[in-house]
Amino acid sequence: MTEPHLADVPDVLLREFAAVVGETHVLTGDATAGYAVDWTGAFHGHTPAVLRPGSTAEVASLLALCGDAGVPVVPQGGNTGLVGGGVPLHGEVVLSLARLDRLGPVDTSAAQVTAGAGVTLQQVADADPALDLGVLIASRGSATVGGAIATNAGGLRVLRYGPMRSQLRGVEAVLSDGTIVSHLSGLVKDNTGYDYPGLLAGSEGTLAVVTAARLQLVPRAAGPVTVLIGLDSLGELHELASRALREVPGLLSAEFFTAAGLAVLAEHAGLAPPLRAPVYLLLEAAGPGAGEDLAALAGDLPVAVGTTAADRARLWAYRERHPEAAGFLGVPLKLDVSVPAAQWVRLASEVAGVLHAVDPDARVIIYGHVADGNVHVNVVTAAPADGRHEEAVFGLVISLGGSVSAEHGIGALKAPWFPLVRSDAERALFTRIRSAFDLAGILNPHVLPR
Ligand SMILES: Cc1cc2nc3c(=O)[nH]c(=O)nc-3n(C[C@H](O)[C@H](O)[C@H](O)COP(=O)(O)OP(=O)(O)OC[C@H]3O[C@@H](n4cnc5c(N)ncnc54)[C@H](O)[C@@H]3O)c2cc1C
Repeated sequence: MTEPHLADVPDVLLREFAAVVGETHVLTGDATAGYAVDWTGAFHGHTPAVLRPGSTAEVASLLALCGDAGVPVVPQGGNTGLVGGGVPLHGEVVLSLARLDRLGPVDTSAAQVTAGAGVTLQQVADADPALDLGVLIASRGSATVGGAIATNAGGLRVLRYGPMRSQLRGVEAVLSDGTIVSHLSGLVKDNTGYDYPGLLAGSEGTLAVVTAARLQLVPRAAGPVTVLIGLDSLGELHELASRALREVPGLLSAEFFTAAGLAVLAEHAGLAPPLRAPVYLLLEAAGPGAGEDLAALAGDLPVAVGTTAADRARLWAYRERHPEAAGFLGVPLKLDVSVPAAQWVRLASEVAGVLHAVDPDARVIIYGHVADGNVHVNVVTAAPADGRHEEAVFGLVISLGGSVSAEHGIGALKAPWFPLVRSDAERALFTRIRSAFDLAGILNPHVLPR
């Protein structure tokens, strides 16, 4: 990638930033390197400064300064995003929200908590022994509340609790002119105008900077049971997952992966397969009769069962370490797509074929959230990465009535293909919404293109 043009940040502005947050929280030069590259290593940017505010008021002051100067800003949380939306690919200033890490006391009567944008999802999940966060993603130790809202993170329990948007009971955020908007009362019923927290969910840092959120928690699952079932085909796997949705009332998760990904994890991460099969379905359920329901569903199929925390973690590792698998083979292209349930088998069965048609030596690993119509397609390319892989996968997905982004967002990775899934009229509306929030026009200008 050619060196991007850095935003013009004169020394006087750097000194004004330092007057707000203190000199130690304005990083420049080599100190910014870790903030400029993404988790996959596929997106490398460059920034004149990383700003690390410690309060909402400091966020407001910094944004007001950037807004006045017309300096573009990329908000960043845990930097686990997978579409290049949180790194400064065009020389923007990085606004790191990691220091907004205050977790309030859990309101056990409402089962809610208020968390700063920089609190990790794991910290929210651990806040109360009887309660849990409904959103569970493998990156939960680093991914933040602000980032998870901005991406509307989905993950491993969407079939039961929905994505991050469904956990939101309120938000505090800062607009690009420094205005603070806050609605954190947590009321379940509150029809008093527009639901801007819902709009910020999935906005990818383009509308406002989230500084805190009021989150609904869920009862911690009682007696969870995890099973890993080996099957012969993706068709059988999808049929069994559909039956689980109908027949296992306590179902929490329905995840899949294949022998190809497991072989890579066995070789590079030492994960010995617990059973051998072409494709694997991981199911988790909790509550009365969960174990019996899962056993009845599995019938005579080969199955590994986990009831203790250690055994369940061992089974989950096969699925949760799949995002790393392609990375052992090279820098992966991560395409996260979804289709209607009736088309899932075609997508999962045909996607490697369309990729090999344009790149015969590409390595393809698929896995994902089968109950949500989702497939994560990870590709280590052999042919030039000139868009042919995206064209092939997205062409198939669109022909099946699907989406080019199931959960990771559009970011930089999918920006060229955004018009495939949103009409001119929709994108014009998005632009008007964006202008209403981001008056200064500085927030993540290259994400969700106008
Ligand atoms: C191993 C692994 C597994 C994953 N599994 C899943 C999964 O199952 N489901 C899923 O949905 N995702 C998954 N992800 C992707 C990622 O973890 C999520 O998108 C997560 O929500 C990003 O949070 P973050 O704090 O790291 O955000 P970042 O990566 O820092 O930022 C992501 C986007 O949000 C914006 N942003 C960040 N903070 C703020 C803020 N405070 N205000 C406004 N905008 C902000 C950024 O500008 C950027 O556009 C996975 C990632 C990894 C590495």
